[in-house]
Amino acid sequence: MRASASKVSGRKSGSTGTAGEDAELAARTLADLGAVSDDTAAKLAKLGIHTWFDLVLHLPMRYEDETKLVPLRDARVGGTVQTEAIVVDSEVMYRPRKQLVVRTADEGAELSLRFLNFYPSQLKQLTPGARLRLIGEIRGSVFGLEMVHPRYRVLRGAEPLPETLTPVYPSTAGLAQHTLRALIKRALNACDLRDTLSEAVLAEHRLAGFAESVRFLHAPPASADSLALEQRAHPAWTRIKFDELLAQQISMRASHDRRGKRTAPKLPARGHLARRMMALLPFELTAAQHRVLAEVRTDLARPHPMQRLLQGDVGSGKTVVAALAALQAIENDWQVAVMAPTEILAEQHYAKFKAWLAPLEIDVVWMSGAQKKRERESARARLLSGEARVAVGTHALIQEAVEFQRLGLAIVDEQHRFGVRERLALAHKSAEGMEPHRLMMSATPIPRTLAMSFYADLDVSVIDMLPPGRTPITTKLIAANRRDEVVSRVRDACCAGGQAYWVCPLIEESETLQLQTALATYTAIQETFPELRIGLVHGRLPAGEKAQVMAAFKAGELQMLVATTVIEVGVDVPNATLMVIENAERMGLAQLHQLRGRVGRGSEASACILMYEPALSETARARLKVIYENTDGFEIARKDLELRGPGELLGARQSGVPMLRFADLATDIALLEQARALADRMLKLEQRLARAHLERWLGARHEYLKA
Ligand code: ADP
Ligand code: MG
Repeated sequence: MRASASKVSGRKSGSTGTAGEDAELAARTLADLGAVSDDTAAKLAKLGIHTWFDLVLHLPMRYEDETKLVPLRDARVGGTVQTEAIVVDSEVMYRPRKQLVVRTADEGAELSLRFLNFYPSQLKQLTPGARLRLIGEIRGSVFGLEMVHPRYRVLRGAEPLPETLTPVYPSTAGLAQHTLRALIKRALNACDLRDTLSEAVLAEHRLAGFAESVRFLHAPPASADSLALEQRAHPAWTRIKFDELLAQQISMRASHDRRGKRTAPKLPARGHLARRMMALLPFELTAAQHRVLAEVRTDLARPHPMQRLLQGDVGSGKTVVAALAALQAIENDWQVAVMAPTEILAEQHYAKFKAWLAPLEIDVVWMSGAQKKRERESARARLLSGEARVAVGTHALIQEAVEFQRLGLAIVDEQHRFGVRERLALAHKSAEGMEPHRLMMSATPIPRTLAMSFYADLDVSVIDMLPPGRTPITTKLIAANRRDEVVSRVRDACCAGGQAYWVCPLIEESETLQLQTALATYTAIQETFPELRIGLVHGRLPAGEKAQVMAAFKAGELQMLVATTVIEVGVDVPNATLMVIENAERMGLAQLHQLRGRVGRGSEASACILMYEPALSETARARLKVIYENTDGFEIARKDLELRGPGELLGARQSGVPMLRFADLATDIALLEQARALADRMLKLEQRLARAHLERWLGARHEYLKA
């Protein structure tokens, strides 16, 4: 394996040593060096290229083979070929439209070139006798072989063919391939490509050298295994993917370790408040809840900031654990912030925290962007004075103006929905030179490999069982043309005292369309069920009205709730036992699982009806089958990963974690495991190399990963 990668490195990689601390040139920006115009720099920036080294890591998406010439007689119609031919004559024709037609020939056959747009200069260039090197798709026409708008060059004298495949890079409008190629060539010469892995590590993991791998990928020989290149299975690719994963792991592990050096308030469990709250709860904690609570308690008692992810399937009871953790901070005279990504979810937390903490005479305040100014001012004042011990809210909580007297613990629900900036902002609301502890909750079950990769800087606790007494939810798949059956089922359930959700189809393209769809669905449902009291919630509804509708549904005043996916997280109405989801095939698996988790919260048997529009595509069918056959969120997430890849599962754009460009978590798990082990070792034993490696791969982006 190694041989093929090292053989091809024609040039020497400068030095045989490993990269030092001095990655200076690599870190300098392109514009600094005056290498490119501001205009080009802006285009490169669009591609994420800011430094010379970024160019080195800008790898081809495919290659063109310009190393061979195909004689015209061997050229097959439909294929793209490179060939050489001599111009016989050229002519501007006006029928059926203006075009330049150039007849050419080699020893064996003829080929016409057709240009629908051309410059006068081309007419001069393409005179009889001119020798052309051409690349284009061969077409057959009544006049024989032809190429339309081929790329061509007029040859002057002997021009040798390239010996390596020609790379085609990801690019952006106005940035030509040859510009990228030239810049990357310069970068390969200018940058320090010495290895950041020691010889021993390379041997142990059977990895190709870094310099030889990048040089190979930018210019592979014509003989290279094209399938391995295309599938990124070539040893040179393996090395790049390994390096990328390693950088991610080093960065996250380093941030994990650094936390141990920062200070946070020591909040030992005193227990008097927690004991009182538990005594008032109508249920016993499950064994899993006890276990994770113990983990959180130990963390809080330490003088370093906790950064723990509390994972648990929908309905596993994370909120009560969070509330008990909050009490531990309050017992020590520190304050707590509870932040949720949507108004609905935040309000539910507010209601629960208030119900649990008010009997203990703890003042909980509500903070939301939608609330009245006077209310907000009063909440702020009570937080600043320390009178209020807990604030629950949306991102209004992290605005500059909100100040805590002593924030000791920040609880963030559905943390993957917040950007890094927002998460950081909350961490910075510290007091007395100390950072608050952080507890993050997520009901999006993240498979182990993903957690290992993207949350390597966090400690993770998992609530892996549901509270007892839940009746399993029956899931049904019903084609939309059997809507009548669904309607009568819903009617029966509601008339018998039950409550139902009706989830509108998801329109991803536009919020306006989504709103129209919600309103249309609501009208249709009202017409279908004139005898029922029906409410509507959607994303655009003012917070106050939303709260009113939710409260009415919760109180049983409304029998049915028509909703968009805004109810996906956190809504808790135990009496609702039926859910209908329209166009389920358009929704993600995680989303369907979350939605379905809104029912089955009480002791009554519940059902979730997934309606779909036939005919289903093969993937849609596979996905619905997963949700139909599985109720365990972790299992669903694992299958989702197989079907869709990690990006969508994590909600890449919102997660704030730079996605992997080269490695693929669905297939490169073994590499990830190796990279993780090596990252820990390098941080202990080879810190200089670890730093050089991070600098190389993350450069300026590195700050972000500390979040
Ligand atoms: P999630 O993990 O989805 O946020 P919640 O914290 O909202 O779950 O809990 C779901 C429901 O289960 C709530 O009504 C909560 O009061 C209840 N619950 C939590 N823990 C237990 C338990 N140990 N036994 C019975 N019910 C519980
Ligand atoms: Mg919850």
